[in-house]
Amino acid sequence: PLPVLAIVGRPNVGKSTLVNRILGRREAVTEDKPGVTRDRVSYTAEWAGRSFTVVDTGGWEVDVAGMEARVAEQAEIAISLADAVLFVVDATVGPTATDERVVRLLRKAGKPVVLCANKVDGPRVEADAMELWSLGLGEPHPVSALHGRGTGDLLDAAMEAL
Ligand code: GDP
Ligand code: MG
Repeated sequence: PLPVLAIVGRPNVGKSTLVNRILGRREAVTEDKPGVTRDRVSYTAEWAGRSFTVVDTGGWEVDVAGMEARVAEQAEIAISLADAVLFVVDATVGPTATDERVVRLLRKAGKPVVLCANKVDGPRVEADAMELWSLGLGEPHPVSALHGRGTGDLLDAAMEAL
């Protein structure tokens, strides 16, 4: 079986966009209105000559009652299935209470974590990305899943974690 990399994070942070980048094609479902991805979808991906399974998570509505608990519940399942976790945070928003909750789950699980500071579309957002050091998960990798910026370095880090 291939090693499993789970993509975890709040709705709308860009998980599915990142999965599409990783796959090099538009397959994971992305939508301006979040909540369109089913709970967990697996794809086979390749980077630097290694094959692995990438698991996209999602399908939660934003700003509805119980959203935070739902994110935590689904994150916990995805984390338990993973060999390594790619935790995606929206650098333009910064860490939220839901992000902190996922961080606690990640700590508890003890799996290797790569922190993706997404939506860093240009150098002006780099400073916001560096604020994510405060999550205590190590180096935030600044990425623009939308434009591809930084995704190579992120995947190199993910392959080291896997
Ligand atoms: P998910 O709910 O975490 O899977 O998020 P999606 O991948 O569906 O993306 C949610 C929204 O954020 C979409 O409108 C994306 O186009 C947008 N988005 C994703 N990545 C980026 C990024 O790097 N930069 C910007 N500016 N927008 C992004
Ligand atoms: Mg999605």
